[in-house]
Amino acid sequence: MSVASDLEDQLARISAFEGLINAFVDVHSDQARAAAAAADVTVQEPRSAVDGLSIAIKANIQQQGHVADAGSAILAGHIAPKDATCVARLKAAGAVVVGTTNMDEFGMGSSTERSVHGVTKNPWDPTRTAGGSSGGAAAAVAAGFVTAALGTDTGGSVRQPAAFCGVVGFKPTYGRISRRGVVAYASSLDQVGVIGDTIDDVARVAGVVCGVDDGDSTTVTNPLPSLARDDVGVAGMRVGISRALLDVEGLDPEIKAAIERVARDFADQGAVVVDVELPAIEHAVSAYYVIATAEASSNLARYDGVRFGPRGDDVTSLRSLYERARAHFGDEVRRRILLGTFVLSHGYYEAYLLQAQRVRRVIADGFTAAFADCDVILMPTTPTTAFTLGEITDPLTMYLGDLYTVPASLAGLPAMSVPAGLSSSKLPIGAQLVGRAFDEGTLFRAARAIAGHLRCPWPPHTQRVHS
Ligand code: GLN
Repeated sequence: MSVASDLEDQLARISAFEGLINAFVDVHSDQARAAAAAADVTVQEPRSAVDGLSIAIKANIQQQGHVADAGSAILAGHIAPKDATCVARLKAAGAVVVGTTNMDEFGMGSSTERSVHGVTKNPWDPTRTAGGSSGGAAAAVAAGFVTAALGTDTGGSVRQPAAFCGVVGFKPTYGRISRRGVVAYASSLDQVGVIGDTIDDVARVAGVVCGVDDGDSTTVTNPLPSLARDDVGVAGMRVGISRALLDVEGLDPEIKAAIERVARDFADQGAVVVDVELPAIEHAVSAYYVIATAEASSNLARYDGVRFGPRGDDVTSLRSLYERARAHFGDEVRRRILLGTFVLSHGYYEAYLLQAQRVRRVIADGFTAAFADCDVILMPTTPTTAFTLGEITDPLTMYLGDLYTVPASLAGLPAMSVPAGLSSSKLPIGAQLVGRAFDEGTLFRAARAIAGHLRCPWPPHTQRVHS
């Protein structure tokens, strides 16, 4: 076997099933073949842990010479002038970048139904969502198109699609991965994250992309702990569970049962399962949607037709320039810009944004207090398994599906979704672990304890390469 032949297998899977899944905005076969050939030269002395590893990149992360439109018509045809720092690091380490993956416009969504490139389907059941907003990345990994993918996670966009597609999704501590060259959505929350078929692959990629960057002043210098497999295990590890989060109305009973099974599994391996309380967690979704929309309204102000965005021919005034350009935003993005502008406006700022920031502080302090008594916290990734495409039309219902992923985002904590078996209708269930800030080592150790036991089988709809 060689990197080149492994890549050809994956490209063959893409030819066979991409028409069904629509995971990609663009596949860069020639570039990937050249990178694979280079990796075969260094195979005896690998340049890094990702030498020859195939990877896809979400469409809001810049890859030099390729479209980086964040799934939006307003950035249609925008060719990235440079690689984002995380992409440059992967390429320098010998990773094989295979393509650009689909996403909800600007990362705003949980279903990849709101992309200018059409809907991404779930390889487990193409009538269902792959999740979002990194749905293309998760579907590409689940369908065996690539070994890993980079996504972004502002309020769950790496973890939630990973859960829906039966793969691993990791969001590190805020500041671990540079966002230089990443299209901004909500800057106090945005993180690059890694999706992979196995925890080992995720660990390899994370080891390369994490680290301080002069080009992003929010990156942190704290050294990344080792994420490699070891034989320490989870004996004595304290695993926190919030009963309140398992009693949430709307949580699928099968997911609740799966999380309880994972807790028993931890106990069987010698971990100590303890109850924890997470105050104000019921307000997390509200606080998130105030903060994220406020920051989005500010970040997206740059798409004004002057610097970014299409410029109409019939522009007669500055106002018409803005109007022509901003008409290219989709409905959900407009809704959020309006909401964000409202919560920032004079007279409403204190009632909404300031209040949301207070809730954020209470939630973050609650995690800190909980971590005095435990090492990781276990909870579902999502309240349901992958829903049917077109099923959720009401924005609020879509937002409420983020209740388990936004708390770690608000608190800036590392979190990971790990496959935890299948539901009775053969859909993947994700178990989420949240760790202490900068303690990704414990997070990965705990995740391996689950993954060793409950790995999902191959998704049925993309099984055969030669169909
Ligand atoms: N679903 C959430 C939202 O729409 C999270 C998205 C994300 O993490 N990019 O904002």
